[in-house]
Amino acid sequence: MKLYSTKKEAAEVNFQEAVFKGLPEDNGLYMPSSIPKLPDSFFSRLSDLSLPEIGFEVSRAFIGDEIPEAELEKLIQDAMNFPAPVVHLYDRLYALELFQGPTLAFKDFGARFMSRMMGHFLQKENREINILVATSGDTGSAVAQGFFNVPGIRVTILYPKGKVSFVQEQQLTTNGGNITALEIDGTFDDCQRMVKSAFLDSDLKKAMNLSSANSINIARLIPQSFYYFYAYGQVRKSTDLPVVFCTPSGNFGNLCGGLIAFRMGLPVHRFVAATNANAIVPEYLKTGKFEPKPSVQTLANAMDVGNPSNFPRLLGLFDGEHANVVEWIEGADHNDETIKATIKAVYDQYQYTLCPHSAIGYQALKEYQEAQDEKTAGVFLATAHPAKFADTVEQATHQPLEMPERLAILVQREKKAIPMKADFEELKEWLLG
Ligand SMILES: *Cc1c(COP(=O)(O)O)cnc(C)c1O
Repeated sequence: MKLYSTKKEAAEVNFQEAVFKGLPEDNGLYMPSSIPKLPDSFFSRLSDLSLPEIGFEVSRAFIGDEIPEAELEKLIQDAMNFPAPVVHLYDRLYALELFQGPTLAFKDFGARFMSRMMGHFLQKENREINILVATSGDTGSAVAQGFFNVPGIRVTILYPKGKVSFVQEQQLTTNGGNITALEIDGTFDDCQRMVKSAFLDSDLKKAMNLSSANSINIARLIPQSFYYFYAYGQVRKSTDLPVVFCTPSGNFGNLCGGLIAFRMGLPVHRFVAATNANAIVPEYLKTGKFEPKPSVQTLANAMDVGNPSNFPRLLGLFDGEHANVVEWIEGADHNDETIKATIKAVYDQYQYTLCPHSAIGYQALKEYQEAQDEKTAGVFLATAHPAKFADTVEQATHQPLEMPERLAILVQREKKAIPMKADFEELKEWLLG
């Protein structure tokens, strides 16, 4: 696969180069130069394929001969070793549960896939790399878990002090070994800016092999298309209606995964891009103007993003045409009051517990379906386990939540984090030291 930069100045690279560089020199984002269409034979078998089987077909189409097929198949089996069930909530509405991985959030898909790809390439070259990642909560924990103890890889995670949940912080800060957490006195956007600066800094470039693990890495993005194919295949077992996906979004990596599936030939009827009060993309869909703002804090904190980093990719997938984007994507945004009311209503009606992010997905999908004359089957992406946000969820439902065992163990472990100002120079000094 060849990949280009969305800024179109940097040279094209192959998959391996894109995975290790993370970000092209021109500060754009890597995207496949062409998106392969999958054959009809793949789509006609979709309902019978497992998630790893789908992952293999999709990856093979992108990665080609850069990884031998038998090896690729093994790596994907290992990365996708947990289910993504499609739960029929009622009538024409389904939840795609992406939270059954080791850190109970959908970012496990991207992190596990990327770590296996990197591990494969590093093992051949006997190299060492440093992964630098900014997180608003779930990315960091998935990366820490995905890369823990992978030889040749050191991981540094920047997270905003006081702006991640207790459980998220435990997941970020209790690993030890090759994982270090930096507790930044600032917002997620500050963390992201510091990481971006590090990648563009020539001293750091000379001194160390820096690599990224954010949703800007193409190896995070590709596996986020797998489950759209899978969910479509599952829904097709029970209905012929057009299928709509609703994706709770922050940096828009997850939605871009769906758009890639669409461009590979998945006949999705429409996408709903659902945000919290950080409604940058829904505003863009309305006005045609993309206007990043400082992020505001919400109950769906993994989506508190004021400058969605995957927006250039989203645009690139529609040839930069606003009219084109609007044809396929509907926007919706919901505030904290709606999040709480939705968690309560869905619990009361269906005894189904949503996390705050998934609640936004559910509500946006429901409202979309109610507003359309045409009948559709809707799938919202349930992006995190409710227990990761137990305080918010329990306050909304007035019911105690059962804590999954891996969280119960985690909360007892000792936090180790290095406090730091939201200042790139301080980060640089630390990295060089
Ligand atoms: C990261 C995250 C999101 C947002 O995903 P993006 O790819 O950044 O749009 C939504 N929900 C949860 C639980 C997350 O961790």
